[in-house]
Amino acid sequence: MQVFYTSPWVPAEWIRAHGLEACGIWFAPVPRPFALLAGDCAFACRTSRVAELESDSAFVFTTHCDQLRRQFDSLALSISHRAFLFNLPATWQTPVAKRIFLAELERLGRFLVGIGGHEPTAEALASQMGEHSGVRKALLHSASSLPAQTLAEAIARFYTEGRADLGQQSGDTACPTNGLVPIALAGGPLSRADWGLFEAVQTAGARVVLNATEPGERNLWESASVPSVVSSKDALLDALADDYLAHCVDVFQRPNRRLYAWLGERLAFRGARGIILWVYSACDLWRAEAQTLREATHLPVLQLEADEAASGWTRIRGRLEAFVESLRHLAGPPAP
Ligand code: SF4
Repeated sequence: MQVFYTSPWVPAEWIRAHGLEACGIWFAPVPRPFALLAGDCAFACRTSRVAELESDSAFVFTTHCDQLRRQFDSLALSISHRAFLFNLPATWQTPVAKRIFLAELERLGRFLVGIGGHEPTAEALASQMGEHSGVRKALLHSASSLPAQTLAEAIARFYTEGRADLGQQSGDTACPTNGLVPIALAGGPLSRADWGLFEAVQTAGARVVLNATEPGERNLWESASVPSVVSSKDALLDALADDYLAHCVDVFQRPNRRLYAWLGERLAFRGARGIILWVYSACDLWRAEAQTLREATHLPVLQLEADEAASGWTRIRGRLEAFVESLRHLAGPPAP
């Protein structure tokens, strides 16, 4: 059975260790256009629509935003046997957060067994943890050297199949900007259906040097230790919780200073001259960050509404061109 998960902070290795297919919701089939109620997040509604249509699959919703939680509640009666709500702690630096996360992993495990998965052995879990940390590390080390869409495609393979196949594409050398203005993407979900953004950015005369959307580079890290097959399953699960809590970088965290520390370091290293904030119209979490993002990074920020992409890229292209032109004027010609 396929299990779609709606946050990169739900460990896919735990799902796969149960013998089930794990797939990030960003790469699920896109449903036909449907009506939205005012105030509804298009991404959360699309997730719920996919959950109704993909009747042979299970869905792991998370509590990281009210919109997803509400969608889970609205589906509770119709698909309760194949839907799970994972309680993601908003705080991350306390023993309580770890206890909650561990308890949720154990509860998720019972749900996965209930829908046909098998109890994972320590060997299966260690193997999945080892593979995932290896792929994450390879993606992390290749991130700055790959064109943005190539990186997004590699991350998509990781979120759908647990592998990346970087082959010859990996390396530590930064991709040349070729006269294009280096900019960063930050914000909420950037699904496969939204990848026209990469082309639109390039057509506007810019190049994405950092992708901090979801799922993007915020969700790549190098684990401190490689799991050992001689560890018990409990010890491995404990290590898995530590690994995710230690590296979670997201807008829903309170306080979310880790997000700005992460961004500040990478924006400077990649030489980004501006930021595109990719938000869904009804996403209070990311919309609330626009001004803080400007003040914390001292960079111009262009807020683009993700919902608009569904009806074509024309208006987005126009706004991107104007933004990139303004960045050229602000900083002079880019380095070759
Ligand atoms: S885009 Fe924002 S409101 Fe929509 S599901 Fe994601 S966090 Fe929630």
